[in-house]
Amino acid sequence: MSKRPARLRAVAIAVAALLLALGGVAWIFLNTYVAAPVDPAWAVPASRVIPPGSVTVRYTGTATLVFSDGETTWMTDGWFTRPGPLALYFSRIAPDTTAIERGLARNGVERLAVVFPVHSHYDHAMDAPEVARRTGALLLGSESTANIGRGWGLPESRIRVVRDREPIEIGRFTVTPIESRHFQLPDPALRERALGDPDIRVPLVPPVSAFDYKVGKAYVLHVTHPRGAFLVVGSAGYVEGGLEGFSADVVFLGTGGLGSQTPAYRETYWRETIGRTHPTRVIPIHWDSLTGPIEGPFTGPVRGAAFLARATKETLAFLKEKGAAQPELVFQTLPRYDEVVLF
Ligand SMILES: [Zn+2]
Repeated sequence: MSKRPARLRAVAIAVAALLLALGGVAWIFLNTYVAAPVDPAWAVPASRVIPPGSVTVRYTGTATLVFSDGETTWMTDGWFTRPGPLALYFSRIAPDTTAIERGLARNGVERLAVVFPVHSHYDHAMDAPEVARRTGALLLGSESTANIGRGWGLPESRIRVVRDREPIEIGRFTVTPIESRHFQLPDPALRERALGDPDIRVPLVPPVSAFDYKVGKAYVLHVTHPRGAFLVVGSAGYVEGGLEGFSADVVFLGTGGLGSQTPAYRETYWRETIGRTHPTRVIPIHWDSLTGPIEGPFTGPVRGAAFLARATKETLAFLKEKGAAQPELVFQTLPRYDEVVLF
């Protein structure tokens, strides 16, 4: 009689210990970060002097960049909301207007001519309509991005669906969107959810699942300005020959997910971006955490995401190898929010 409660208690303790251990592992996967796949030696400081007429850039993280020549300011993505890992997988997400307000202020942005999400996934496009609403910007992008704008109540007059390779004048900037591909997520189930059915066909009204932000079209932006030319590659995908005939002084190179691709894919990606456009500078983007803090030093991906993407070490090793093979090519990473002279 007296042995049974003791045995029950032992089982209960064992189960509790197991649950605690599993919870601990889950916590580590969801809340700790791996090293960022960039070399600290590439970091450039904020520019102390901004000569009149120069083209500058500010970086929030992921693929959110603000470009300005002092007369015209426009940005890619405008993404400031950072849903946590639990919300991403098990709940619904919506733009965080406080984070957007703070993010715009940290970038010194009051008025914008244009906000252009490079594709329609949540980590690029979800906040763009609110950014447009607050700054007077025109929302540019695919029909899917337009439907994110419509779902947020942005008037049709503030939305413009772009056409492949049709240049758009933004002040003295000329932006040419070039339809490209998103990188291929290595996990088949995740790939199917994120890329399988690509279009958002009706106005998207948040809160919605992160996966409702379908990819739409993935663009590479080729930008010219009297001061210089640059390329924004928002996702580590390519179309062979897609950038034939385009040149750039600087390439903002999307490196998210690059480590999870095969070595052959990485080589082709490099050849189809850097190899086609012959820049003197490459600035890796989209290498920082999607769920991490949006203030302070950049962190690498959360451990769980790094595990899913299989590798971030491969990304850094690949970039370093390319740098060693092409020593005249300058690698740079941008500080958070601070203005840096581009040209
Ligand atoms: Zn994406």
